[in-house]
Amino acid sequence: MRLAETVTFGGSGLDRAALLRGDEVALAAALADGRGTVLPIWRGKPLMEDCDTGQRLVWLSAGHPMLTEAVAERLFLGDDDGALRFAADISAWQPEELNAEQLDSFADQSRQAHPTAQDGQFFGELRLSMTLLTPRDAELAATAKAMLSWHRSHRFCARCGSESRMAQAGWQRTCPDCSAAHFPRTDPVVIMLITHGNDLLLGRSPGWPEGMYSLLAGFVEPGETMEAAVRREVEEETAVRVGHVDYLASQPWPYPSSLMFGCRGEALSRKITIDPAELEDAFWISREDLSEALAGRHPSLMPARKGAIAQFLMENWLADRLD
Ligand SMILES: [Zn+2]
Repeated sequence: MRLAETVTFGGSGLDRAALLRGDEVALAAALADGRGTVLPIWRGKPLMEDCDTGQRLVWLSAGHPMLTEAVAERLFLGDDDGALRFAADISAWQPEELNAEQLDSFADQSRQAHPTAQDGQFFGELRLSMTLLTPRDAELAATAKAMLSWHRSHRFCARCGSESRMAQAGWQRTCPDCSAAHFPRTDPVVIMLITHGNDLLLGRSPGWPEGMYSLLAGFVEPGETMEAAVRREVEEETAVRVGHVDYLASQPWPYPSSLMFGCRGEALSRKITIDPAELEDAFWISREDLSEALAGRHPSLMPARKGAIAQFLMENWLADRLD
């Protein structure tokens, strides 16, 4: 698909400067002399501010008081046109007023203002901001969020159970006891446009906001191709059989660490029998009705939010731009 990398989080050509990851002296020098700046992330939410074009990330100097709350290690993200970019996890900070229920909601609308931040700077949910950031900021934020989440959930060696340590500026963890090296994980997920003639298969999961429907999706299993995963997931969830499958586009999705593979598949059957453990509902929607829904004119249907690859694939299907 020619437009593949125009999807949100679709890649901005960031130079990840992997050769610098092992050069602790150079990275420390950059942080000390101001060429290196740090993006603080609090419980998965990057520090941002509003600007003329939407929103942008806020980069702090290494000595900023907000970063004294961070774990000692800095994650090196890359060379952003001459500026070396880092991220730090400051999740230990406890805001005075915190609505835990809101933080765990489907799309957390709350913003947290750190006492050492400037006016207008806030920690915000990336799902709400992803289409307001430049592609470069979106790539940096997605990378930082996914990586810091991996460090939080992989503190111990999977081989021997000892506490492991960050290495290679955050791109590895190594075990001091058994010397095992652990690398950040990315989980492949297929998400599919399943069509039958003029119709597209949509489903909704239990717990989604009312009226929200999207493309079916599921994790690729070990030993399975993407194509086989598409056929298996669709048949498991809806009993619809799928024939030919094509790959279209991919999207890094840092919730917490997925890589979404957008695919297209041709249905061989139409009858839907949902698996209630996975889906609350599924149905075939015509191009005309989907077009109304994406324009916000459908009386009851709310398609996947802007920025998600599901909406990107649906819009390009309607516009015949999948080639
Ligand atoms: Zn170990």
